[in-house]
Amino acid sequence: MSQDAPSPETGHKTRSPASIAPIDRAAALEKLKAGAVGLDTTYELATGEKTRRIYLDSTASTLRLSVVQDTLDKFMPHYANTHSVLHFGAKLSTTEFKWAHDMVLEFVGADPEKYTAFFVGSGATGGINRVARTLREKRPDRDVVITSIMEHHSNDLPHRKHSPNVVHVPAEMSTTTIGRVDVERIKEALEENEGRVNYVAITGVSNVTGIINPVHEIARLAHAHGALIVVDAAQMAAHVPIKMTGNDDPECDLDVVILSGHKIYAPGSPGAVVTRIDLFEDIEPQEVGGGMVDDVYVNRYTTSKNFPDREEAGTPNINGAVGLAASLYALHSVGMDTVEADERELIEYALEKMSAFEDVTIYGEADSTACERAGAISFNIRGMNHGLTAAVLNDFFNISVRNECFCAHPYVREMITEALAEEDDDYVELQSLSEARQGMVRASFGIYTTRADVDALVAAIEKMAADKDEYEPLYDPLPNGDYRHKTFSFEPDQVFSVRNAVDSWLTD
Ligand code: PMP
Repeated sequence: MSQDAPSPETGHKTRSPASIAPIDRAAALEKLKAGAVGLDTTYELATGEKTRRIYLDSTASTLRLSVVQDTLDKFMPHYANTHSVLHFGAKLSTTEFKWAHDMVLEFVGADPEKYTAFFVGSGATGGINRVARTLREKRPDRDVVITSIMEHHSNDLPHRKHSPNVVHVPAEMSTTTIGRVDVERIKEALEENEGRVNYVAITGVSNVTGIINPVHEIARLAHAHGALIVVDAAQMAAHVPIKMTGNDDPECDLDVVILSGHKIYAPGSPGAVVTRIDLFEDIEPQEVGGGMVDDVYVNRYTTSKNFPDREEAGTPNINGAVGLAASLYALHSVGMDTVEADERELIEYALEKMSAFEDVTIYGEADSTACERAGAISFNIRGMNHGLTAAVLNDFFNISVRNECFCAHPYVREMITEALAEEDDDYVELQSLSEARQGMVRASFGIYTTRADVDALVAAIEKMAADKDEYEPLYDPLPNGDYRHKTFSFEPDQVFSVRNAVDSWLTD
């Protein structure tokens, strides 16, 4: 990595993140895969056996990569506040914190001359809220936001809160079932609201189905109508390369991208907003306080014109940002195209195996030639409630999955009704069945997920589908929709509690 000239503002040397050390990418990917904190964790099951957990809940939060943990272990002895200036630890922390911003820009392929990256909140939600409020204020004449039915609530409700009008575009029908967002309908919505659309807010990858949306094509459409494109990359960032600028057609460039640090192998890190600087210029930052002002008098203050400082009031989550930068640099060094290709093989393998069961409904288009996916597969076992399926997978097979609606109620509801319609065309009955099955089970993958993990899931599904009636009597359904084993219980504090950990540290 090259050392560049000292920054005129801070006097600190800055480094270009662009110069990546030459490495054997395939070997580095294997090393990254093998090392994630929590792959060896064991739990005792309802059967009495103690086995290694199989973590298939990476869409909710990825595990922390060892490279992140190791980098943080090396950084923490130097940790200091980035608002301190002259002592050694402050210089080091400030340099690395700045580099973390540069790394985010580099990771999403954003031109640092025109774009800035700032950290906000503990995931993508804080960033999307900030973007929705700012763009509303920046372009008050444009009172419509277009989004889609596929969105996580975090990329829907902030727009509803800040924009007077939000249009929800449906997903298209792929060969047999629901696929990507319907681009034709986005075009229609742009035309119907000519001159009024502020931005199109779209997820890069669905957190329910893993379906990948054509964000650059949507960008071109939006730009042709004077609208901006905001991409929720909470899922996309960990699975698919992102290229905000420098696309063959500049109209395909992306205006704003939001990332979630805990979903890209660095839990404990903040969310990040990458945006064209001009979109945030001249808008009073939402949060004010230390670090974002040039001068303060009792009767006035002058907000810094510098980005990202003006959007980062207060002491930032410095070690979180360093952890995120470590993950992004590691992934960038391996190449997100390599990661994507590797994961595609795994997801195709899983789809093929899971589609083979008659009793399993996979939601969303499962033919990857018709519609590409990354990271997640949501399903139900016919005749088995999603809550029961998830509980049994955990209690009997040590497989960690998420169930319910994944904060994407409209999308999940639509897919469940659509899947049931294929089985039964009586509308009234369909409605009540849909209510009863209001949810799915989601198996989701990270770079550390292996074919053996998928095989374990498939074997568990096979056994559960065959022995459905044996599991149900073992559980009590709870009023909140969860299922509790009648005799087996897991006591978290027998495995870990902060209090026990501190007690034993103090007394050891
Ligand atoms: N968008 C998508 C697509 C997501 O999957 C999530 C989290 N599940 C969010 C936004 C919200 O992210 P966070 O929880 O990090 O705020």
